[in-house]
Amino acid sequence: MRTIALLSLASLTTAALVSACGASEPAPVAPPVASVAPVAPSASVAAPTAPSLALAQTGIETSWMDPSADPCQDYFAYACGGFVKNTPIPPDRATWDISATIQKTNEEFLRATLETAAASPGTDPVMKKIGDYYAACTDEASIDKAGAKPIAPLMATIAKVHDGKTLADAITALHAQAIFPLFDVSSQQDYKDATQMIAGLDQDGLGLPDRDYYLKDDGNLKDVREFYVGHVGRMFALAGLKPAEAKTAVDDVMRIETKIAKLQQDKVTRRDPYRVYHRIDRAGLVGVAKTFPWEAYFKGLGFGDVQAISVNEPAYFSGIDALMHDEKPAAWRHYLAWQVLHTEASKLAKPFVDEAFAYRQKLTGQKELEPRWKRCVRGVDRALGELLAQPYVAAKFAGDSKQRAQALVDAIHTAMGAELSSLPWMDDATRAAALAKLEKIDSKVGYPDRWRHYDFDVSRTDYAGDAMAADRFELHRQLAKIGKPVDRAEWGMTPPTVNAYYDPSMNEIVVPAGELQPPIFSKDFYAPVNLGDEGASTVGHELTHAFDDEGSQFDGAGNLRDWWTASTKAQFQAATKCVQDQYAQYEAVPGVKLNGALTSGENIADIGGVKLGYAALEAWKKAHPEEERTVAGFTDEQLFFLAYAQGWCSSERPEYLQMGARTNPHSPPRWRVNGPMADVPAFAAAYQCKVGTPMNSGKVCSVW
Ligand SMILES: [Zn+2]
Repeated sequence: MRTIALLSLASLTTAALVSACGASEPAPVAPPVASVAPVAPSASVAAPTAPSLALAQTGIETSWMDPSADPCQDYFAYACGGFVKNTPIPPDRATWDISATIQKTNEEFLRATLETAAASPGTDPVMKKIGDYYAACTDEASIDKAGAKPIAPLMATIAKVHDGKTLADAITALHAQAIFPLFDVSSQQDYKDATQMIAGLDQDGLGLPDRDYYLKDDGNLKDVREFYVGHVGRMFALAGLKPAEAKTAVDDVMRIETKIAKLQQDKVTRRDPYRVYHRIDRAGLVGVAKTFPWEAYFKGLGFGDVQAISVNEPAYFSGIDALMHDEKPAAWRHYLAWQVLHTEASKLAKPFVDEAFAYRQKLTGQKELEPRWKRCVRGVDRALGELLAQPYVAAKFAGDSKQRAQALVDAIHTAMGAELSSLPWMDDATRAAALAKLEKIDSKVGYPDRWRHYDFDVSRTDYAGDAMAADRFELHRQLAKIGKPVDRAEWGMTPPTVNAYYDPSMNEIVVPAGELQPPIFSKDFYAPVNLGDEGASTVGHELTHAFDDEGSQFDGAGNLRDWWTASTKAQFQAATKCVQDQYAQYEAVPGVKLNGALTSGENIADIGGVKLGYAALEAWKKAHPEEERTVAGFTDEQLFFLAYAQGWCSSERPEYLQMGARTNPHSPPRWRVNGPMADVPAFAAAYQCKVGTPMNSGKVCSVW
């Protein structure tokens, strides 16, 4: 649902096409809350039914609205204008939005938990482990004293590169540490047999966010690239290179990364599951990348017998195999050293951390580095997430929270069944297959049934050692799945995460406890408000991903299989094209338009999510026919749309928006509101928008 973690999606290491819809931006300091209207709802408001409610008691944040804006001209401005105007982006954030408000609360809670655990862990092994990890992470004096020593063993391996064999040895050693020059390795479900885990080898090894940054000049691409050149040089200087060698090293890095970029698939290509799945297995891999020592490679990772392998694109592996002969060992030493510095900088002393932040600042516009404690809370979540989640869930998702959230999921699921049954463009054969797929969609809500173990040692005095051990442990855990049946109980996000996802191979939606908190969801909110935000923008959105232009290519068992008749598929593709053309007209920042093909899956999910939430609202009204309700003059329908829109109230720095236009499959929040509103006729009816206004243009794109 939410915006996306543009700089890391580390927790979702399996299927490349998992639709992770959320934000992992660090939480900021408290924003001043502007008060242009009634105050925010009290959490203790009881059983929210009907007429006596004031608007602010429904869960709608009145101060976020701008009543002077015309909802038919710009609904985002109407629902969120007050938020945008009165809520500055904290200096240690690139954006500020609803997810961020929950993250802030979560991080403060987790900080208190971790500081207690670090100060007096007691005998509880969970508290001891997370406390030790946090204590080491916040011990800046020891981290600064260690300087760059934690990466010295890797640098020593790289220094030995003088031919093809030693180059492969160094690549293997880096991969075993989860540093991925040239390509990466993990496990994934087999797209054609979703019951089995196989190895997935994929393109990787660039320091800029996408291939376009190396190959194009439009927008701010050239400017960012030029900054990156300086950044690489400064990092090499910190690592001890003399100016002349640093200059050569930067040239080597840029030349090699540009060659890699030319070989890589672009982000639109990578949305096509058939383009990123090639089950060539070990023999096929040896065939396409003939000179790379694959046997030694897999042995070096500790998994010498791996046979079942998919690569994103065989030609890519042929290309990098040739590239390894195309550059001199000295150039490779520079490229590999850069990959280590780029990946591990955050674990090193302050000068490395600061330089890494300077680059992130260039990309996102974020003004200040987050304080250490915030980085360490996130670090524990990343390294030991399901340990840290245990006290979180006990405090924040207790009682009947899980049942209430599950009831909401079930209501949207039922609405989707009705929607599929009545879609005019679908023939009966495809409809039957779609309903069968819907029937099989699993949902995971809140937190896992059983907690994961983390079998690696944590030292209270060696942060980099801990963080690198955590990376190795996670890689090993992933690779150990290869050749085995899928574990359907596993979660791809930790419970405090303010996010949700749909995984087409698992055919399941996952909504962590962090996503089920106010102001997104509360048992005390008025039902149309919960249906508009959590119902439409999270549950409906994720369910629609099962049928977007990617998800629809997988069947109910999670297998990549075409279950569409040709004529219905043609109609689906025409409807998808309509959405792509619509969003391609929208701008991220002046002069930079959205990529309709990159964002179409998310846009389809947004539009579908609103429709499903709305259908669930109508069902709820039928089941609660007491009377015609209005709250402060707002109908249930208007409140529903208002809640949906307020789920996207957000401010972003222009740098962040521009990077998102290149790399983010989600549209910016403004268009996640105004796009679907223009496509859902019930919105125009609810606000009586005249034909010809932007929210009722007369042209509607409709997929689901
Ligand atoms: Zn999504």
